[in-house]
Amino acid sequence: MFEYSLRYVFDIRHNSAEKDTALLNFVKSAQIDDVCFIINAEELNHSHLTREETQPWLDQIKELQAKLKDMGITTSLNPWTTIMHSDRGFKIDNKVGFDTFVDIEGNKAKDMACPADPKWRQYLVERYTQYASIHPKRLWLEDDFRHYNHSPLKLMCFCPRHMKIYQEKLGKKVTRHEFVKALLAPGQVTDERKIYLNQARKEMIEVEQLIEKAVHEVSPETDLGQMTSFPDWHAVEARDWAGLLDAQRGKKAQHPRVVRPHLPAYNEVSPIMYGRDFEKYSVITAAYAGAKAELYPELENSMWTRQVKSNNFIAFQIITTALLGAKGILLNIFDMMGNGINDSWDYSRLLSQIKPFVSKLAEIRMDVGGLAGVKVLVDQDAVFYGQTITGKLVDELLPQDKQWASLLSSFGIATTILPIDHATVNNIQNETLAISGQLLRGLPKAEIRYLFASNKILLDGESVQAIIDLGLANELLHIVKAQWYQPKTAYQSFEQADGRQVNNVKDPRVTMLQHTGSYLSLDYEKDADVQVWTSAYNSIDQKLGNMMTIVDHKAILLPISADLKYGWEAQYSSYKEGLIKQMLDEIGPVDYLTEMPNVKLKIDRTRRELWIANFTLDEYEQINWHYTLKPNHQVEVTRYKKDAYQVDEVEVEFMDDLAVIQVRLAPLELIKVKY
Ligand SMILES: [Zn+2]
Repeated sequence: MFEYSLRYVFDIRHNSAEKDTALLNFVKSAQIDDVCFIINAEELNHSHLTREETQPWLDQIKELQAKLKDMGITTSLNPWTTIMHSDRGFKIDNKVGFDTFVDIEGNKAKDMACPADPKWRQYLVERYTQYASIHPKRLWLEDDFRHYNHSPLKLMCFCPRHMKIYQEKLGKKVTRHEFVKALLAPGQVTDERKIYLNQARKEMIEVEQLIEKAVHEVSPETDLGQMTSFPDWHAVEARDWAGLLDAQRGKKAQHPRVVRPHLPAYNEVSPIMYGRDFEKYSVITAAYAGAKAELYPELENSMWTRQVKSNNFIAFQIITTALLGAKGILLNIFDMMGNGINDSWDYSRLLSQIKPFVSKLAEIRMDVGGLAGVKVLVDQDAVFYGQTITGKLVDELLPQDKQWASLLSSFGIATTILPIDHATVNNIQNETLAISGQLLRGLPKAEIRYLFASNKILLDGESVQAIIDLGLANELLHIVKAQWYQPKTAYQSFEQADGRQVNNVKDPRVTMLQHTGSYLSLDYEKDADVQVWTSAYNSIDQKLGNMMTIVDHKAILLPISADLKYGWEAQYSSYKEGLIKQMLDEIGPVDYLTEMPNVKLKIDRTRRELWIANFTLDEYEQINWHYTLKPNHQVEVTRYKKDAYQVDEVEVEFMDDLAVIQVRLAPLELIKVKY
């Protein structure tokens, strides 16, 4: 069963029997399994509530909880505030009385807590004890439980209490300004950065531990859950995923890790763009949470109503959570100010129609830890060693380890995310790895040498720079000279694959001018085994230097950096897709789809399963699978059918190394193939 958990807000001052009836009817007709009541949210929020202000919410929820229980529906709780999402004009009540945080620029919050204040911790423990008194199935911590994205303020906390902690660890007095400057400074990472990160990491785990103890004393059966946001920004606050999520499970760890990953579209966007962000945020979060975690991703339609999303897009978002191995979904489809259920939006029909299919998929959930394909390495510790460019923007700390994940999956290349674990780096062998950003700076030289010796590797320019700085460039990549060139400086304009062909286009070109980072021009040893695949050109067709290369038949180099605004946007080109697939064929076999742009492929070789999802509005006549291990002549395809699901035996035709599965793939469709 795929669990539907409806996030529901009612107004304790304005609720009515009629609204309750509408809720109960909707729960039944939409096949909702759990109602997750949100307390004190958004328009109804008026700062952090006292015990007395909280109790009426729980009393009214309890009445509904009893009615839901009679229907076989569970009740969960989603208090909307821990630290508080943003400042909205309220001030902390004197009766609540804890300190607010100070951000990196010295701005003091009015309504948002300092996470090291013992008074706030005590307050939160008391409220969570109170919430636990109604024995919810799950009790969530909101995604305001973080050090960033507290508008209008920036990264925190740099209050006097925190400055004292930092100074004690530094062993000297520093001003906030001096400390922040050192924290962001370019070059070697400072003690200030490490001290900040260690404190941020530690204090969140400490709070989780306190909450866990209090909640499970009152309600041992309740699962604590963590709502999460962007994993790259969580890296900036040094989130220790296992440490944090296991703190919620309790000492005896009888509870699962329960996580709500963010789904990156509150309003409808093009499915192509959604597909890129889905890898960057949702898929990476799922990897950090681990294969055993229970995931209930966030389907949110802010600012709500059917003006922001079509029902087909909602169905697509729900169904594709199968690519995260989700156990269910949190549905935030009605607003947060108490309008309650709106029947005319047809959500109950939409949800009940797809329920049999998503439940069928959830019978054997995707094992996110067991997927084959290119393994994209990510590291939760990236900010401990990542170097900034100017030291002026916090954004410069964001790890860029996510870039290959979005790009390769858009090309239909089978990918999976592999969080780095130093204990197991030396077990990684015979894989194709994709590394971008500064991840390699976090590894000892011996581990890097091992990874190169035992695997095929895709590298970007920032990874190559890390290898240069570590003194390994000549040894591992035969590089003798390296020079960065910024875009839009009248130097490089495009890259050209001389002598290559993609589709009918010979010597295809991809821009190096726009929506791209800088270019790292690399020269190699004279007799080195280096295949030059593309070269950089200027706007009057003069060849400038090497661009994409294959070194020693095992390393593919894409020597660019990520633009802070556009990332790798220029790389999303069918020409680049064709070239990278040809280059992958050259270094070793990888599964991918051909002539199916923006169709994602996930593959589990142990279970012999393919998950194929169409993140476009185009229909594809057939599935063209470039396989590494030949499948059977017949495969079993599970697909959506209205109010049901359908399992078909489908013929496979073979052409060279291509298996053509004779099945149409509709726009926004996901199918599962047993081969
Ligand atoms: Zn503080």
